[in-house]
Amino acid sequence: MITTDITEAKASPGQPTVSGRLPVAHYVSGILDGDRALMGRAISVIESDLPSDKVLAEQILDGVLPRTGNSRRIGITGIPGSGKSTFIDALGMHLLHELGEKVAVLSVDPSSPVSGGSILGDKTRMERLSAQPNAFIRPSPSRGYLGGVARCTRECILVCEAAGYQNVLVETVGVGQSEVEVRSMTDFFLLLMIPGAGDELQGIKRGIIEMVDGMVINKADGENLRAATRARRQYESALRMFVPPNRQAWTARVLTCSALENRGIREVWRMILDHRAQQQAGGHLEHRRQAQALSWMRELISSGLQEFFQNAPAVQEHFARLEHSVREGTISPFTAARELLGFYRDLSPRPSMGSGSPPVRDQQYVKPI
Ligand code: GDP
Repeated sequence: MITTDITEAKASPGQPTVSGRLPVAHYVSGILDGDRALMGRAISVIESDLPSDKVLAEQILDGVLPRTGNSRRIGITGIPGSGKSTFIDALGMHLLHELGEKVAVLSVDPSSPVSGGSILGDKTRMERLSAQPNAFIRPSPSRGYLGGVARCTRECILVCEAAGYQNVLVETVGVGQSEVEVRSMTDFFLLLMIPGAGDELQGIKRGIIEMVDGMVINKADGENLRAATRARRQYESALRMFVPPNRQAWTARVLTCSALENRGIREVWRMILDHRAQQQAGGHLEHRRQAQALSWMRELISSGLQEFFQNAPAVQEHFARLEHSVREGTISPFTAARELLGFYRDLSPRPSMGSGSPPVRDQQYVKPI
């Protein structure tokens, strides 16, 4: 059993803190009670870069960890305009009202690499769902972290699970690397497509098709209906071609739906449940959760190393000069990188795991499966 120290988090002297932060116990009990305002405030702490908040975030997560692991983690991706928010709104309402379950939506909003602005935009999304007391919707800006998925999405999933949400939907815009990351943190990975958008494969790469557990052709209504049926057949044969048979004994399915007219949503949910039952029976779900935990650990190591590197005094001392030289073309990026890595390896003191380190769980850790 985990014993949770839920006393007030203390920052080291001299470190900046955020006023208005609560004692750990308030966040933990608020989350466990399903208090959405406190869930939101806890997530703000988790997303914060301040060392004092990192300590607090770690304590909050330790406090809720024993109550995590019990949700269906579902990744939903698709190009902008494919109808993700309309679809999630419809699916969420189905789960709330027909099945009586709670739904959390974590929308990862990758900033545009060019403008830095949000891709999902500020428009009101999931209008019906956002008005429901048993729904929790949290947009997270990815702030350019590793290709799209917010740094703290995994932690946010745990917060939602501890708050009793049986379904956690992680929404991401289908651009590049983010699919790989979302798949690595979810139990079912769904790709939302639309019919008749020029090339039927819509630039979706083979690698993504190989990763999906299910595909849904949305907007199968009105004039689009025939095109949607055609697209469904094309994707079915693409899946047969690309995906090795018996991958975890599950063959990805392709369905059509109209999120706008609320048709086909029930069937999509049935597919997700069929997948889960089949994965549980074969022990695959447990393997997938293990893989999720391992990929989280690797991610924490990479981000921790990056942080150590950037904070190393020797690196800080030479970084600007080498950046300038690369910009001027007087040194190659390769040489500059090698030099900086050399400074870090040879000169910097061995980093200690104090503040500024990624969350480290100790022997109290309880496997969140
Ligand atoms: P997102 O950018 O992927 O979140 O897409 P939205 O949910 O904002 O939808 C983009 C546009 O497609 C909106 O104008 C929606 O009304 C429309 N849309 C979404 N789902 C459907 C659908 O099932 N049928 C039709 N005809 N339009 C849809």
